[in-house]
Amino acid sequence: MVQITINEERCKGCGLCVRACPQKIMALSKTKLNSKGYHPAEVVDQEKCVGCASCARTCPDAVIAIER
Ligand code: SF4
Ligand code: SF4
Repeated sequence: MVQITINEERCKGCGLCVRACPQKIMALSKTKLNSKGYHPAEVVDQEKCVGCASCARTCPDAVIAIER
């Protein structure tokens, strides 16, 4: 299974990864805030991830890591 790891502290909540995901399983957290005051991205349904890495490639700050 593909494991997506998001460095929440470095995420700036721009939402580009949310739009890039073909499976629509990324979202900006409604509850979490990082120390910079941004709502970090999170994977809402890891099971549906196809490991395309579109989210990681799209992130301007390269805070998404993908492990297979
Ligand atoms: S690897 Fe692909 S399917 Fe998985 S969360 Fe990223 S964009 Fe979505
Ligand atoms: S593209 Fe990167 S910085 Fe932007 S919301 Fe997604 S993980 Fe955060």
